[in-house]
Amino acid sequence: MSHLHWHRGDLGFVASSRGCPYDCIFCSNRITTGKRYRFRSNESIIATLKLLYEKYNRTFVLFLDDNFLVNKERVYDLIDMIMSEGLHHKMTFSFQARGDNVDRQLLSSLYSAGFKSVFFGLETASEALMKIVKKGETVQQCIHAVQLAREIGFHVSATFIFGLPTETHQDRLDAILLAKELMLDQVRFNNATPYPGTELYQIAKSQDRLKIYGVYENFLSVGTFIENPFSPIPFSYTPPGNTEAEIRNDILFAYLSFYWDFRKIKEILFKPKQGVGWFSAGSNWVAFLKKIPSLVLLFFLAGYKFFKMVLDILLQRNTQLPRRYLWRALTGRPITGSSGPIVNLTK
Ligand code: SF4
Repeated sequence: MSHLHWHRGDLGFVASSRGCPYDCIFCSNRITTGKRYRFRSNESIIATLKLLYEKYNRTFVLFLDDNFLVNKERVYDLIDMIMSEGLHHKMTFSFQARGDNVDRQLLSSLYSAGFKSVFFGLETASEALMKIVKKGETVQQCIHAVQLAREIGFHVSATFIFGLPTETHQDRLDAILLAKELMLDQVRFNNATPYPGTELYQIAKSQDRLKIYGVYENFLSVGTFIENPFSPIPFSYTPPGNTEAEIRNDILFAYLSFYWDFRKIKEILFKPKQGVGWFSAGSNWVAFLKKIPSLVLLFFLAGYKFFKMVLDILLQRNTQLPRRYLWRALTGRPITGSSGPIVNLTK
């Protein structure tokens, strides 16, 4: 990073391909972009990168492809072109990948070409659930990919989905444990959302557990995190054997366990290792002072949400989380009661 000089708002986007040949039952991307994988010529991608850099001064670029690495030949060719144009000295790139699509040589080459940040859709820590959601890869493959990426030096982010069909509270605890064991840089814990056109939609409908409000207004996988706690967004699907309140509390508990760390909070708010961060403090004191009212409101709403979750755990209502897990999360110790360490460090 030392040779790069990105600043707030310095963010560019490029879509180098569309479509994805996999069958994940929850995926809305593939519903809109299709199963057939097609991609732009590398010449046109290089032209876009140059435009972003030369005309718009963008040095941090997100590749918005559904699945960037489907065709390795074109990716290696793109790496060569980025390097021969010298763009890797001026820019950094971020991309999304599947765990089973990477290997050491590919990740190392991408890293050398300026790809410093990678995002994996881990979704679950349960091999059985991986099969149920038809991910077409295993948890162990994802773990191996994350470990490789971290070893090479990537900034690694991931998502997990809570509330998948047949999922249990224990499965969610295992996911929380895995996120921590993998020492991911950033994690998002989403609620399963049966977007129309997906197989998950059909499952939710056949189970008579599909809830649609307004014009699909509650179809939001990040609802728990961004909603106003005084008017929560109802889940569009809750699997049998779970309640919405339990899953909501598990998601909040997952965030608490993962982000209850001053360095992490500081990094995501003020000093991101990669990207532009979630929040800009403004370029001067006046700009910062103007932001204080909205910051206070933000912290009040988030604080209320977590306070309610803590209260639920203390009063043992709307949750299967025992009180002692709360203490363990706050003191940074691993939660117990799960099926044990998930990461096989010998692999
Ligand atoms: S691999 Fe990713 S983009 Fe492809 S279907 Fe699965 S979730 Fe969607």
